[in-house]
Amino acid sequence: MKLCRFNDNRLGLVEGEHLVDVTSALDALPAYRYPLPNTDQFIEHLDMLRPKIIEAAKTGSKLPLAGLTLLSPVANPGKVVAAPVNYQAHYDEAQADAGIRHGKDIVKIQTIGLFLKAPSSVVGASAGVVINHPDRRNDHEIELVAVIGKPARNVSVEQALDHVAGYCIGLDMTVRGPEERSMRKSIDTYTVMGPWLTTADEIGDPHDLQLVLQVNGEQKQNNNTANLLIKVRELIAWASSYYTLRPGDLFMTGTPDGVGPVVPGDVIDARIDRLGSMRVNVRAA
Ligand code: MN
Repeated sequence: MKLCRFNDNRLGLVEGEHLVDVTSALDALPAYRYPLPNTDQFIEHLDMLRPKIIEAAKTGSKLPLAGLTLLSPVANPGKVVAAPVNYQAHYDEAQADAGIRHGKDIVKIQTIGLFLKAPSSVVGASAGVVINHPDRRNDHEIELVAVIGKPARNVSVEQALDHVAGYCIGLDMTVRGPEERSMRKSIDTYTVMGPWLTTADEIGDPHDLQLVLQVNGEQKQNNNTANLLIKVRELIAWASSYYTLRPGDLFMTGTPDGVGPVVPGDVIDARIDRLGSMRVNVRAA
């Protein structure tokens, strides 16, 4: 099942080049009072919503995807967990490029661990990336993103993927420089999620997905999740030994080689096998 948020917080079931508006299925979500739940309620209740989505699709309006505003498939992520340098080829290029490493040694992920990005940086594909530090180097990073579906605390590697609701494409946009990653990568619009959520049952093992990113039609990144140094199930188990992963949390699994700068006016096309593709415009603040 491919599910998107579009236009004015509507829910769509994606079928090829169209979607069916299944927003009415969201009526089944519980009513809320303050304090609001600190999980994404759509993701938390996805299993309950699935039959209602199928039912709503029988009568929902069918709309062409072209021209719709695509929002982040997760509206309220509690946190964005991210893996630094999780492909050997990206480690090698980062070590070799002074513009990436800024006088520091690139520390292996096994040593430096995971980092967090601010949830306020998350946008959908249609929002685009806003460059508000044009004097700095602003890089694209395409990544497979796992959306956590069930609470995970001290889960085993073997069971970790049972806690994934689905997958989407992520852009971990980055200002290069000496500051902490959590600052450089948390700028508004610097976490692009899209084009929609593909539920985990459609993917199975996520370690054979090709990732391709183009800037202005020129290919920059092209690698496969088979080459992840720390696999998705290991990342989730590792993170869950430090903090509870909750429904709607986003897990960015790391970018392969080919990262590079973008400037206002650039057009990013990002594609991951079986998840779809998204076009993201880069613009000035
Ligand atoms: Mn990254």
